[in-house]
Order: sequence, then structure tokens, then C-alpha cells
Amino acid sequence: MKATIKQIIKETPRVLTFVVEPETSVSFKTGQAMRWNLPGLKIGRLFSVACAGGENMHELRFTIRIFEDGKFTSHLRGLKVGDSIELSGPYGNFIFEDTRMHDVGLIAGGSGISVLRAIYCNVLEKDTKHKVHLVFSVLNIDEVIYKDELAELAKKYPNFTYTIVVTKPHPSWQGHTGFVTKGIFDQEFKDYKEEFYICGPQAFIDCSEGLLHEAGVTDDRIHIDHWTFYAPKLMK
Ligand SMILES: Cc1cc2nc3c(=O)[nH]c(=O)nc-3n(C[C@H](O)[C@H](O)[C@H](O)COP(=O)(O)OP(=O)(O)OC[C@H]3O[C@@H](n4cnc5c(N)ncnc54)[C@H](O)[C@@H]3O)c2cc1C
Repeated sequence: MKATIKQIIKETPRVLTFVVEPETSVSFKTGQAMRWNLPGLKIGRLFSVACAGGENMHELRFTIRIFEDGKFTSHLRGLKVGDSIELSGPYGNFIFEDTRMHDVGLIAGGSGISVLRAIYCNVLEKDTKHKVHLVFSVLNIDEVIYKDELAELAKKYPNFTYTIVVTKPHPSWQGHTGFVTKGIFDQEFKDYKEEFYICGPQAFIDCSEGLLHEAGVTDDRIHIDHWTFYAPKLMK
């Protein structure tokens, strides 16, 4: 189906959010992705829908990291409001089931936050008392995607909290630094009672999953969205 670009938001120097309006409404589940195709380009790519799922949706949002040498994403900087793209899907079985609501732990590395945004929007839009806590790992402070939104949500919703971990911080940074560690998770997740959702580079996923296992979290409470370009686990 055709979709029109309604808005382009520069989240960080390397990450853009596209708000698009499909010509026919789309139904999808929170956590699913859609395939993008561009006119004149033979290849397409999957991108997670960065908003809560629902029936007959008229507006979708995608947050995309631009690889300057990327076969697909290098073409996205040239898009303008009013341009058309081709969408298909939804695809994927990384699905957030809000019918069995529980406290949620979100663990994001870089642009992996996009799919986890769909989850925190889902929980907060449902207005439940369930807690959502996000640990967001970024390379440096300029790479915090959704910076203003995260601050606003934390003010608005007492059940939403987040922590940023900066790998290579500026000396003025006062928060967590380096990689995610057991110490950071112990501090942020305390009793580890949440249902956990992880997305990010493969090394980040492996590290986070290992820390959760170490804390006694069983696999049935760990949900991982593998983006294949990050060399999926299956290929190890
Ligand atoms: C289900 C799903 C959902 C996704 N959702 C999103 C999303 O919401 N936002 C988003 O930005 N992306 C998302 N992706 C990734 C996206 O589909 C593309 O893979 C990505 O944008 C790169 O595409 P490209 O053609 O520009 O890059 P390519 O030309 O395919 O590669 C670009 C760069 O990726 C790096 N790269 C390639 N392969 C590997 C590898 N194996 N390991 C490490 N680095 C590698 C290289 O540095 C290369 O320069 C998702 C993928 C899947 C499968």
C-alpha cells in the first residue's frame, strides 16, 4: 500500500522519525514491523512501528537509524514531507500482549528504542497502574532518541521511569556510564519482577540477557527483538 510522509523529525544526527499516513488503514500488534520500499529501489527493509498497535490505524511512526553507506537507509535522508513510500505488512512475532498486563522492564540499545517505544506507549495509553521502567544505553548524550518525550512522560506518568546509560560520556554527565552491568540492573530493576523486553545491537542483547539470567529471570519473561542486520543469534 502507498503511504504519504506527513512529518520528519530529526531525533539525533543519525536517527530520523517518519510519521506516515497509509492510504488505507492498517491493523497491527504492538511490537510488529512493516516493510518499506522506495520508488525506483529494488530492495526493501523492515522497520518496527514505533507506536502502540491497534485496529484500523491511520497514522504510523517509524524511527530509523541512517547508515550513510546503507543500501536502503542512505536513501532516506532525501525524503520530504508529501513524498510517497510503499508499505507492506505487518510482520513479526515480537508482540507485546497487553491482555496479560504486568510491570514492564524495557532494555534498549541505540535505535532499538523504536520498538520499545511502541510498548511504553501501549502501557501508558491504556492508563493502567502497571510500572514501566526503561534502561536506555546510548553511545553519547547526543544520541538520546526521544529525549524530550521521555522527560515529559516521566513527569506525566508516575508509573513511567527511565535511566540513561552513556557509553562514552562528556565529563559533565552525572548518570550511569559505560556498558550495562549487573550493578546498574540491580539498582534499576531491584527485585526483577518485571516482564523484560530487549532490543539493540547483538552484543548488547547478549550482555543484557546474560545479566537477567544471572539475576534469576527465566526465559519466559525475556522477550528479544532481533534485527537481522545485527547478525542474529541463530548465525552464531
Ligand atoms: C524486524 C525488524 C525490525 C527493524 N526495525 C528497525 C527500526 O525500527 N529502526 C531501524 O533503524 N532499523 C530497524 N531494523 C533494521 C533495518 O531493517 C535495516 O537492517 C537497517 O536499517 C540497515 O539497512 P541498510 O540497507 O541501510 O543497511 P545495509 O546496507 O544492510 O547495512 C548498513 C550497515 O549496517 C551495518 N551492518 C550490516 N550488517 C551488519 C551485521 N551483520 N552486524 C553489524 N552491523 C551490520 C554495517 O555497518 C553497514 O554499514 C529492523 C530490522 C528487523 C529485521
